[in-house]
Amino acid sequence: MNIFTLSYHFQAALTKNERFKTMLPSESDEQSGLFAGFRPAFKSFATEAIHVGQEPEQWKSMAVVPPISLSTTFKQHEPGNHAGYEYSRSGNPTRNCLEKAVAALDGAKYCIALASGLAATVTITHLLKAGDGIVCMDDVYGGTNRYFQRIAPDLGLEVSFADCTKPELLKAALKANTKLVWIETPTNPMMKVVDIKTCADLVHGHNKDIVVVVDNTFMSAYFQRPLALGADICMYSATKYMNGHSDVVMGLASMNRDDLYERLKFLQNALGGVPSPFDCFLCNRGLKTLQLRMAQHFKNAMAAAKFLEANPRVERVIFPALPSHPQHEVMKRQCTGCPGMITFYIKGKLEHATTFLKSLKVIYAIMTHASVPEKERKVLGISDTLIRLSVGLEDEADIIEDLAQALAAAVSIKHALY
Ligand SMILES: *Cc1c(COP(=O)(O)O)cnc(C)c1O
Repeated sequence: MNIFTLSYHFQAALTKNERFKTMLPSESDEQSGLFAGFRPAFKSFATEAIHVGQEPEQWKSMAVVPPISLSTTFKQHEPGNHAGYEYSRSGNPTRNCLEKAVAALDGAKYCIALASGLAATVTITHLLKAGDGIVCMDDVYGGTNRYFQRIAPDLGLEVSFADCTKPELLKAALKANTKLVWIETPTNPMMKVVDIKTCADLVHGHNKDIVVVVDNTFMSAYFQRPLALGADICMYSATKYMNGHSDVVMGLASMNRDDLYERLKFLQNALGGVPSPFDCFLCNRGLKTLQLRMAQHFKNAMAAAKFLEANPRVERVIFPALPSHPQHEVMKRQCTGCPGMITFYIKGKLEHATTFLKSLKVIYAIMTHASVPEKERKVLGISDTLIRLSVGLEDEADIIEDLAQALAAAVSIKHALY
């Protein structure tokens, strides 16, 4: 098996067409049905994305855009008496602005920013001690899977995996020592959608102290608020949609519980996986167009998913906003829209998938699931003909044209099965 064909991902370059002015799905979008049936958008989301944590009054200069505070140390009036900052790992003004903005967008009291999504995962896992148990969704990001399978057990943590789309399987996996439940929805690359509220209620009914984490990377704060659905921590790889411009690696974790914040704030400083002020500035800036970007990702992805579903060279399309998706109703109930991730099986064999991918021009593919062991890939349905696209912000017509020509190229190869 050739690992690079397992799943594919591209982050599209942004077009120059982003604008601050048109907010939200327009009324015509709602009427035309793209957002129909989904939860209504979160109130004042765009306003908060632009203003919370950015108050000009916090700077002597009254800067409307938070400055990049590169200083690692801050002057104290006298030993132990300072204006809120001492040392940049412990607290940084630019990072603070970002953390406040993200907390608002998640409907949370607190947020901490970390150096990467995986740094967030590791920092959160440090809430546990040797002997504690973790239950993880069975289909998660490759790096999360690798950490829980190959590193956490060496630290004395007991990790098991369960398909959380079936609450009875999650229930069966909970044990007396379970301290952390890790959910990702929709999952990557199989696009399984987990009912967060059902799972959080079930877990907290078993033991209210179990920390339920939702990896919200693929939804972004604009499409899903896990904390409002009962999760204790909402985490992100901000490297993806939250920053959105493919130029920052970062992690985020939001929460409401004071005790969790105190401990995680301590761990953020004690473990040291903090992001740079420059990256915080960029991510903070990216948030200001989050809702515009997500609405456009949804539009483009819906067009691509419908195109693929209607194409005879495609075996099956997995896209949660299509009625054909097994958890389509859950998706509409807990989300305000659907992001740009589409998984599909191309008809044929490995070489058809490879030719398709090599033929793409606008879309390019880079990610693999090599970090998921082969036998688990099989169980999860990750086969040679599985392709995952992350539909970007290019013009819809160009995306469709690219898919069409790549499918045509795949069908024309020798030994084609069509
Ligand atoms: C990318 C990703 C991660 C890991 O984040 P990094 O920023 O790359 O460390 C975690 N979860 C999901 C769903 C991701 O896509």
